[in-house]
Amino acid sequence: MRPRLHERVAAARAQRAAQARTRVRRSVTRRDGVRLEVDGHWLTGFCSNDYLGLAQQFQVVNALQDSAARDGAGGVASHLVCGHHATHDALEKELADWLGVPRALLFGSGYMANLAVVQAFLGDEDVCVQDRLNHASLIDAARMAGCKLRRYPHADPEGALRQLRSVPDTGAMLATDGVFSMDGDVAPIRELAVIARVQNAMLYVDDAHGVGVLGPEGRGTVASARLGVDAVPLQLVTLGKALGSYGAAVVGDADFIAHLEETARPYIYTTALPPAQAAASLAAVKLARREQWRREKLVTAIARFRNGAVKRGFELMASHTPIQPLLCGEETHALAFADALEAQGFWVSAIRPPTVPEGKSRLRITISALHTPQDIDALLDALAWARDAVGQGFGASADATATHA
Ligand SMILES: *Cc1c(COP(=O)(O)O)cnc(C)c1O
Repeated sequence: MRPRLHERVAAARAQRAAQARTRVRRSVTRRDGVRLEVDGHWLTGFCSNDYLGLAQQFQVVNALQDSAARDGAGGVASHLVCGHHATHDALEKELADWLGVPRALLFGSGYMANLAVVQAFLGDEDVCVQDRLNHASLIDAARMAGCKLRRYPHADPEGALRQLRSVPDTGAMLATDGVFSMDGDVAPIRELAVIARVQNAMLYVDDAHGVGVLGPEGRGTVASARLGVDAVPLQLVTLGKALGSYGAAVVGDADFIAHLEETARPYIYTTALPPAQAAASLAAVKLARREQWRREKLVTAIARFRNGAVKRGFELMASHTPIQPLLCGEETHALAFADALEAQGFWVSAIRPPTVPEGKSRLRITISALHTPQDIDALLDALAWARDAVGQGFGASADATATHA
C-alpha cells in the first residue's frame, strides 16, 4: 500500500526532535553592525558571514538605493531575455579584473551557481570527485547532474588521486571548498592542482568564504596559493558573505564561462539578479579591493580570539580564517553552550548534523572586522563562563532545542 506522506513527515519530525535536531528560525528586528536585536533584546553577533563589515556600509547601501530609484526592485526577466543590465556587466568586469581572470558570470546565488557548473560540464558517464566536507550545494550539484560522485577524506590529495584513478576513462571534475564553511581550514589547493593536471580533471574551487578575506587584495584562496586560471579554470565567488550583498559569480576561463552562459539551466531559467543588488555588490567589491585595513582588522581580531581562547584552555581547530569553530560533540551540548552564551548577550550558532558529521556538533564562531577588541574579550569571558555553566548542567535540557537554528 502507498505510504501516506503526512505520517512519514510526522515520524521524521518526531525523530529530529528526539535527537535535538529541530531547526527554528529567529527573527532579527534591528541590526547595527555586529549588534542584533532579537526577541526584544540586543545581542553581539558572532555568527554572520559579513566578515568585512560591508553589509551596512553606507556606500554599499547608497549604491543599492540609487540604482533601485533608477532601475526598480526587480530583475524583470532572465539574462538571455531582457534582464541583463549594464550594471551586471560592470560588476562582472570588476570581478574579472579583481580576480585576474578573463571572465565572470553572475548567478542568483552560490547554490545555483554550483548546480550550474557541475551540470554544464558533467553528464551521466562522468565523475565529480569531492572533499568529504564540501558544502551541501556541491554535493547536491553532483547528485542533480546525474554524474558519479566520489568523495575523499577531508583535505587529502592522495585520496583525491585514488578516486580519480579509479575512474580513468571518464570526464572528471575535482571540486573543493577553498575555505571549508564549518571548519574554517583552507583546502590544499596546490597539491590538488597538480593532481587535477596529471589526471586531466577540471579543478573547481568554491571560494565562498575565501574571497574578500584571504590573499593579496582579498583575491581569495586560489590567488593566495599563487595559482591562475590555467590551474583553476573556474571558481565560485559569493557576493553574500565577505561582500555583504547577495548573489554569486563563477569566474575563470572565457570558453568555459561562455559554455555556462549558453547552456546552464540555473543560469537560463531564472530571473536575473536585480540590478540594484548588482550595484551594491559592485560598490562592495571596490571597497573590498581597496580597503586593506578591513582585512588587517580582521586578522588582528582573529589572532586576539585565538590567543585568548588558548589562554582560557579551549581547544581550537586549525583555522586562521574568520571561521573559528569550538567542537562540542553532542547536539544538546552545543545547544546548551549557545543558550548560556545568549544569556551573556552573545549570539553564536550551534551547528548540528546533518550540516556537520555525527558527534561533531559545534559552536561556529565567526569573526568580523567590525568586532572591537572589547567584543572579542567579552566573548572569551562569556565562553569561559558558559563552559563552567554547561559543565554543571546549565541549560542542557531537551527544551534547549526550541530556540536554535
Ligand atoms: C554559502 C555557501 C554557498 C552558497 O552560496 P549562497 O550564495 O549563499 O547560495 C556555496 N558554497 C559554500 C562553501 C558556501 O559557504
